[in-house]
Amino acid sequence: MKINFITDDEYLNHDTGPSHPENIERYKVVKSLLDNSYSNHNFIKPRAATIEELSLVHDKEYINHILNSIPLDGYFYFDPDTICSPNSLKSYLFAVGGSILAFEDILNNNYLKKNCSYFCAHRPPGHHAEISKSMGFGVFNNVAISAVNALKHPQVNKILIVDFDVHHGNGTQHFFENNPNVIYASSHQFPYYPGSGDLNETGCGNIFNCPLDANTSSKDFRLMFEMNIISKINDNFDLIYFSAGFDAHHKDPLASINLIDEDFYWVTDIVLNKFGGQVPVISVLEGGYDMEGLKNGLNNHLMALSEYIKNE
Ligand SMILES: [Zn+2]
Repeated sequence: MKINFITDDEYLNHDTGPSHPENIERYKVVKSLLDNSYSNHNFIKPRAATIEELSLVHDKEYINHILNSIPLDGYFYFDPDTICSPNSLKSYLFAVGGSILAFEDILNNNYLKKNCSYFCAHRPPGHHAEISKSMGFGVFNNVAISAVNALKHPQVNKILIVDFDVHHGNGTQHFFENNPNVIYASSHQFPYYPGSGDLNETGCGNIFNCPLDANTSSKDFRLMFEMNIISKINDNFDLIYFSAGFDAHHKDPLASINLIDEDFYWVTDIVLNKFGGQVPVISVLEGGYDMEGLKNGLNNHLMALSEYIKNE
């Protein structure tokens, strides 16, 4: 079994300007890692999401606002952090569509109940995007939309979303906090942007937050992650998502958590050891703003994904 990468050079056209942290260099770094170290795996082109698919999570008025705000030239700011330019829309739609396509590919290959893995290498990230609000560089919630779409399938009753991006995935948590069929588990710096993610935010018993103090070390991260996430969740899942952000890396300029490269192998491996086993995995790129941290963190995450599918 090989990792299935869903990616496309279209992501080079979502121009946010060279000084924005979520810029085209991120895609270049990811692409060069995949080309250099994973070229023997499968590569699949994303497709654009439809308006109907966006509506699985976002409200119509908001979707229209996004579609109608793309400028003919220059930049448009949805909010102080979230910038688009003339070619951004295709990236937005590919990022959502690619995340959905991963699940479609699982169905087409009869991979439900199997150890398979997908990595959606796209931009921008999506876990901050709320039902009717852009936030934190993203306008549509790629993971939430893909997960809601997957839940329509009769064999997908329970989904785990693990979000190890250094920021709390407020959009994902808020969307699923009353849905017992989805468990959302997130480790993140706290208190920090976006403000949510405290331990006492538990949804309907389906939200597991692991808040981390600024300057948390690799060792303490592992202890906290095991205590607040791994040991507290005891369900079986039909599908696992990772909101895979690499900005908890010690080199990242946007936060102050001190993870080392190998922590991204560790966190992926411990989740799959406990919750994997005849369960497909869809990992979706979120943040990561130091180019070396992004490359090395992602490489470690992919090594664990590749280990997971080795014996299938
Ligand atoms: Zn982040």
